[in-house]
Amino acid sequence: MPAIDGYEKIPLGISSCLIGEKVRFDGGHKQNRYILDTLGQYFSYRPFCPEMAIGLGVPRETIRLVEIDGRREAIGNKNAALNVTDALIQSAQNRQSWHRQIYGYIVKKDSPSCGMERVRVYHGDQPQRIGAGLYTETMMQNFPNLPVEEEGRLGDPVLREGFVKRVFVYKRWHDMLADGLDWAALTDFHGRHKLILYSHDQDLGRQLGRELSSAHSQLIEDYAAGYLSQLMAILKIFAKRSNHVNVLEHIRGYLKRDLDKSDKRELTDSIENYRLGLLPLIVPITLLRHHFRKIPNEYIERSYYMQPHPDELMLLNSL
Ligand code: SF4
Repeated sequence: MPAIDGYEKIPLGISSCLIGEKVRFDGGHKQNRYILDTLGQYFSYRPFCPEMAIGLGVPRETIRLVEIDGRREAIGNKNAALNVTDALIQSAQNRQSWHRQIYGYIVKKDSPSCGMERVRVYHGDQPQRIGAGLYTETMMQNFPNLPVEEEGRLGDPVLREGFVKRVFVYKRWHDMLADGLDWAALTDFHGRHKLILYSHDQDLGRQLGRELSSAHSQLIEDYAAGYLSQLMAILKIFAKRSNHVNVLEHIRGYLKRDLDKSDKRELTDSIENYRLGLLPLIVPITLLRHHFRKIPNEYIERSYYMQPHPDELMLLNSL
């Protein structure tokens, strides 16, 4: 089914239990309505349960991560002879071709198979939250740029917006590759994402732009792989309010000759109130969009900063 408003649904991997499949050890699920109903308008989910895939079945014995001789092993909670470490790792290795065809992955937190971080690892009887599920960890090692997030963290507005934004950027990256990679396309891609990068880290964003402009003597395929890694790493940096203020002020600069005094005052006030935490980011952005509709500017129109993902997700309303 196509997504609403002309957006093509983006394929995402997901832990099966999160969409309601009864695959948990006790035959239950952990369906998440926000993921299904809201994000599901724009994402098409490809569910996968690694524990079912390796034949553990339902109901099954629970497993946990145990540190043995410096290696993390997935061992039965009651039956220590049950060791599914290699099977879980292999289940991720076997699925590299479909991991290549998805643009993000939502995983179940705390799971010794699916968790992304802070999964309990036992050393003796003492668990420490220092692990990742073996399936997800292997997938992330194979595809370090793939946006991955836990369902629990999607409850946080900043993490949620950051994840969805990374999915859309990652999808646009692959669309660009599909259309044919050349220096003009890469330069245009960077230009359209530059302000987003500045909102995460202005210095690193500028540095990436400088590197790109002086990289043309290299083979583009070699350079592009490193570019993507840096891009996705910058997008993982927390986008601070002060950085957004800098970007908003930069965008406002394109209007300075065209706005009258009261419009300028209104815009300045809305950015200031955002800076003070009195208004969400969507307010100055909506005002800027309104002015740019009347006073078009090609650079700003092509930038994804003010439209990083569909408005209907309302992700900028909580920032
Ligand atoms: S957390 Fe992962 S392994 Fe556990 S039931 Fe859900 S999909 Fe299966």
